[in-house]
Amino acid sequence: SVRVRFCPSPTGNPHVGLVRTALFNWAFARHHQGTLVFRIEDTDAARDSEESYNQLLDAMRWLGFDWDEGPEIGGPHAPYRQSQRMDLYKDIAQKLLDAGHAYRCYCSTEELDARREAARAAGKPSGYDGHCRALTPEQVERYEAEGRKPIVRFRMPDETITFTDLVRGELTFTPENVPDYGIVRANGAPLYTLVNPVDDALMEITHVLRGEDLLSSTPRQIALYKALIELGIAKTTPEFGHLPYVMGEGNKKLSKRDPQASLNLYREQGFLPEGLLNYLSLLGWSLSADRDVFTTDELIAAFDIKDVQPNPARFDLKKCEAINGDHIRLLDVKDFTERCAPWLKAPFAPWAPEDFDETKWQAIAPHAQTRLRVLSEITDNVDFLFLEEPVFDETSWTKAMKDGSDALLATAREKLDAADWTSPESLKEAVLAAGEAHGLKLGKAQAPVRVAITGRTVGLPLFESLEVLGKEASLARIDAALA
Ligand code: GLU
Repeated sequence: SVRVRFCPSPTGNPHVGLVRTALFNWAFARHHQGTLVFRIEDTDAARDSEESYNQLLDAMRWLGFDWDEGPEIGGPHAPYRQSQRMDLYKDIAQKLLDAGHAYRCYCSTEELDARREAARAAGKPSGYDGHCRALTPEQVERYEAEGRKPIVRFRMPDETITFTDLVRGELTFTPENVPDYGIVRANGAPLYTLVNPVDDALMEITHVLRGEDLLSSTPRQIALYKALIELGIAKTTPEFGHLPYVMGEGNKKLSKRDPQASLNLYREQGFLPEGLLNYLSLLGWSLSADRDVFTTDELIAAFDIKDVQPNPARFDLKKCEAINGDHIRLLDVKDFTERCAPWLKAPFAPWAPEDFDETKWQAIAPHAQTRLRVLSEITDNVDFLFLEEPVFDETSWTKAMKDGSDALLATAREKLDAADWTSPESLKEAVLAAGEAHGLKLGKAQAPVRVAITGRTVGLPLFESLEVLGKEASLARIDAALA
């Protein structure tokens, strides 16, 4: 059966690239009724942090992912934090050394650099040159006597490695492109190059789905797997699929340090997890040519790694927002009103009174739901209902209040005064009639009314807004704008 893993390192804040990788693994596991292993790759004490670890777990929960084995729930291959598996790596590194699949390398950084430079200058491959592959006992003794601390290096077999990538098809790596590589630091700390494939082997992972940036480590891992199989540590080599790069602004690779990449940003702006997942799934995959809005269940039902495209995907914030808006429309009103709650209090809505008027909110919510792209937009869209006076910004005011606006507003006030305030349709007719009296279409006629009432040129459906604000307050605001 299918066993996939999501194995981030807890460094920095969760970012969209990470979420896409988690999503594709999760969707693949769920589609195949397989197992998702969540593993924390925290062997780099200098970079990993407990705060990032907690953020990762929090993000996974918020996104609605569940995992079958991993932190907090355990599983047959526990522990799932690599920092708690150090003895195991040490043991396997020793076995690789004993079997000759790895060797101690005493080259200093300076020596390596100098030889790499020389190789480059001579137009030769500049990877590790195999210097310590076959040291004599005398050479080892001399290095030890010099006080050198060796790293452990994996011995790459002298053969071409070919595999079929689930996304990219057949790929071939020749030996000169994959030199021997370090697996344990001089201080004894095991490296990603060792612990990642070792855990994939021990946890019996069948499919490795990860970013294209890790493609170059795959031939190394395949060779290591071969050694692990020989040692009886691994059963089989997993299949690999490398997900395409995500490009950000200016067609540059979206880096995890990019502010646009930070998951926290999307949460703060009020993206729905299901909207964000829908959009992120489109970075390299699609459900069908004519549908880009779908539920997470539909995604799982349709997801096939073979449909992932190898070419880079472009992160398009506008499209992400539009899709999120469509998901807002899919919520039932009650769910929508509840999800808006954080943006209707401090710190997002410093104006929100203690005795927040629920009736007004419930009345306006369905209309807000038709307009928002992200939930945080609710704050500025409904503040006019709760503030004594609307917040006027200079640009909106000058844009809407042109010559003649006063006359129009005065007529609109008169007509609105006579309208039926329980009917948005009647309010609309009033403004329409005022417009006609001044030779203006509805769009032009309602602009100054909107600014007088809400302070802004764009916002929620106007006549419903008027109804909810009420006759007295609405007319008072028009009077204030006329004064
Ligand atoms: N911990 C690695 C990372 O976050 C995992 C890479 C992999 O999936 O192999 O980059």
